[in-house]
Amino acid sequence: MTDEPEAARGLDPDDWAAFRANAHALLDAALGKMERARDGRVWTPFPDAMKAAFDQPLPQDGLGEAALSAQLEALLPYGAGNTHPRFFGWVHGSGTPQNLLAEITASALNANAGGRDHGAIYVERQVIRWCRELFGFPETASGLVVSGTSMATIIALKVARDAHLAFASRKAGLGAARLVGYASAEAHACNARAFDILGLGADALRRIPVNDRFEMDPAALRSAIAADIEAGLQPFAIIGTAGTVNTGATDPLAEIADIAEAQGLWFHVDGAFGALATLVPELHPRFAAIARADSLAFDFHKWMHVNYDAGCVLVRDESLHRRAFSDRPDYLKGEARGLAAGNPWPVEYGPELSRGFRALKVWSQIAGFGTRRLGDAIAVNCQQAAYLAAKVDADPRFQRMAPVPLNICCFRYLTPGLDGPALDALNAEIVIRLQEEGLAAPSTTRLRGVSVIRVNLTNHRTQTADLDQLLKDVAALGSAL
Ligand SMILES: *Cc1c(COP(=O)(O)O)cnc(C)c1O
Repeated sequence: MTDEPEAARGLDPDDWAAFRANAHALLDAALGKMERARDGRVWTPFPDAMKAAFDQPLPQDGLGEAALSAQLEALLPYGAGNTHPRFFGWVHGSGTPQNLLAEITASALNANAGGRDHGAIYVERQVIRWCRELFGFPETASGLVVSGTSMATIIALKVARDAHLAFASRKAGLGAARLVGYASAEAHACNARAFDILGLGADALRRIPVNDRFEMDPAALRSAIAADIEAGLQPFAIIGTAGTVNTGATDPLAEIADIAEAQGLWFHVDGAFGALATLVPELHPRFAAIARADSLAFDFHKWMHVNYDAGCVLVRDESLHRRAFSDRPDYLKGEARGLAAGNPWPVEYGPELSRGFRALKVWSQIAGFGTRRLGDAIAVNCQQAAYLAAKVDADPRFQRMAPVPLNICCFRYLTPGLDGPALDALNAEIVIRLQEEGLAAPSTTRLRGVSVIRVNLTNHRTQTADLDQLLKDVAALGSAL
């Protein structure tokens, strides 16, 4: 060893004791951030000095461990704010301290979960088995832990597309096939994006009108399918949403399943956050027809609070799933024994070969808290949304803009004599001020042509008092502006 040249010293620490001390201090800082998640501002813009610190030329020589730890620690105050109880924007999970431990463990293992026979493979299978059970999928269903619902949707719809074309599309492409699919007008943009990425074109995803509760109108779905068949197109899939991003609406999943079955179409469910509401006994019936889906895409990083990122795709028919992706060249050939065993490999169910051990933080969240406690947090968020809706309804300064079936409440601040674009602008400005002043972080959306303040509760740290404070702040800003 003593004869090794200096360059051969590798990348491990020179001084393990010093490295350990640094690592412990950084872990303490990270835990401190999480312990104080309720304190202080919601969002703090990234300061200019920090932007400059991350705008440096490519370094030839490293910082060294102490300076590196300092720079890592300096990042901690500058998240988007989704670990704070008054983060209400978009759909963000709020994370857990417990998940840090899984991330550290996964990082220490440095596992490549694309395949082969090692622990990560079995942990991921456990997660997929639990998800099958949770959503009533058969034991023969397959699945994959992925980055999020966007990726899960691409995988699910690729299986649907290829199955419809008898897998000829895998080699020959789409040829003259003119496939079309259906989702509600309120469906998430990731669905049309998947159509785009899969070569179907975003326009091939027909947007079906919704009723006054923002749920897909099944009669309109039936006539859209009939019109497309009449026009010589090939319907292949219907996407039902369990929890829309704008208002938390859930399409009539059982009715959509019936239509898909009658027409021989693939039934996919986008359950990004809403599907997990199936954990709440009173809400379960609304989501029970997910069990009839051919595929489901949902996230762990939203309403299960797994630290970013982690989502999941489940496919009812494992053989279709595998046929849409499997492709084992010689250098990835499986064996019955040895490290190349452990078949089938995850690479056979998705586009990625090398992939991290996301499944461990998911396993840790489910094993560590159990479904009852995770479900309770979801139930509380729904009660809070109903509480907020009632307060909005009882106060003439506010107007509620949509039903609140789940965890999202959309409303406006009203000013006598103000309407149209001026009222839109006022509400948009209120939201920006709330964010800039670090008071709260709702987001905005447009419903039936008007801008609204959108409060999404996928936050296990939110308390009722945070909602009271939000309405106070909205009213104070609204009257000051
Ligand atoms: C967030 C969301 C998505 C996209 O999921 P990602 O995890 O961000 O890729 C899709 N659909 C709905 C309803 C969502 O809320």
